Amino acid sequence: MKLSRAARTTAPSSTIKLSDKVRELERRGRKILRFELGEPQFSTPMEISTAAIQALKKGETRYSHSRGIQDLRQELCDFYNRRYGSTFDPQKNVIVTPGVKQGLLYVFYALLDRGDEVLVPNPGWTSYDEMVQLVGGKPVSYDISRATDFAISLDAIKIKRTRRTKALILNSPNNPTGRTISKKILKDIQCWCDANNIVLISDEIYDRFVYDGKKYASILDVNPKLTNAVLLNGFSKSYAMTGWRLGYVLAEPELINALVLFQQNAATCPSTFSQRGAIAALKKGERHIAQMLKIYERNREMVVKALNGIPGIHAIRPDGGLYVFANISSIMGDAGAFCEDLLERGSIAVTPGEAFGSNGKGFIRMCIAAETKTLRQAMNTMRTLYT
Ligand code: PLP
Repeated sequence: MKLSRAARTTAPSSTIKLSDKVRELERRGRKILRFELGEPQFSTPMEISTAAIQALKKGETRYSHSRGIQDLRQELCDFYNRRYGSTFDPQKNVIVTPGVKQGLLYVFYALLDRGDEVLVPNPGWTSYDEMVQLVGGKPVSYDISRATDFAISLDAIKIKRTRRTKALILNSPNNPTGRTISKKILKDIQCWCDANNIVLISDEIYDRFVYDGKKYASILDVNPKLTNAVLLNGFSKSYAMTGWRLGYVLAEPELINALVLFQQNAATCPSTFSQRGAIAALKKGERHIAQMLKIYERNREMVVKALNGIPGIHAIRPDGGLYVFANISSIMGDAGAFCEDLLERGSIAVTPGEAFGSNGKGFIRMCIAAETKTLRQAMNTMRTLYT
């Protein structure tokens, strides 16, 4: 069989490839402490699961509306309109998708013609590049430099613009660095995008996990109508619902209508009973988010302190998100080799930073959405191995 160019050139998701390897080791009986995936190691709150179970019992086992269940779209719009004073209409401004991943793929399909360029963060989430390429676009990375402690700068973005630049991706809190963007810089970036007719795509999947009581700066704070902009978010991280596969896109009706066409042909709709769970998440989930935030904040303090106590490791204290990003290059130049060593000798799985782009070289990413005692155990093992 002759496979397509896309099939031959798409790289595996490095995080998922690694986690598949770890799962295989587990299957063979190895006990591994796992921090390599961006996944809360907690079960979905029972109230949310119960709502989905009830939907199944009631026979909600068929396709839903291709934009997503009306009640869910209404809840989402209410949530954002309340929070940001926006005026989103559930019939026009939102589509529910099988995860942010699929929503993002639709967005790229809707925006990009062959050769159009998308500015993507480096370091940044692994799938942006591959998805842009999958639809025939060209990812162009902008530097988030370790020299500025991974703060985003408009200057670094500006120098990468060409006449083919169609869109810019922002991800705050950033995966993997945990850095957030300030409202002031967000505003500057939005103005620059407006002036250059560049679509600003804001991936806000970690928005509910911002530490130290700081207020999250959303694209909606500077562009409440999402004029020439797109907001993506989902249920995976905020409500520990990774396996439910639910995300959503908010944008102007013209773009949403295009995404609906892709969804109708590619997925029909997201899982119907998952969507019932999501409605419960929006209605009853705040308490759970608050609980998780507390745990993650505590984990952040403990992990950053423990890693920085190991000579040769420098961990960044994240502003938000689910990860600690740490420079281990003084211990081992090659972070991939470090991760192999840690897995081999310490039975601990973390992700090498280069999976997130060249600026992640020499770093490791560790997910802190785990039980504190498991993370503590991992920290003790690492201290023994590397001091
Ligand atoms: N965006 C970022 C930055 C992520 O880190 C992830 C998952 O790790 C996603 C999107 C995908 O999320 P979902 O589970 O909703 O597809």
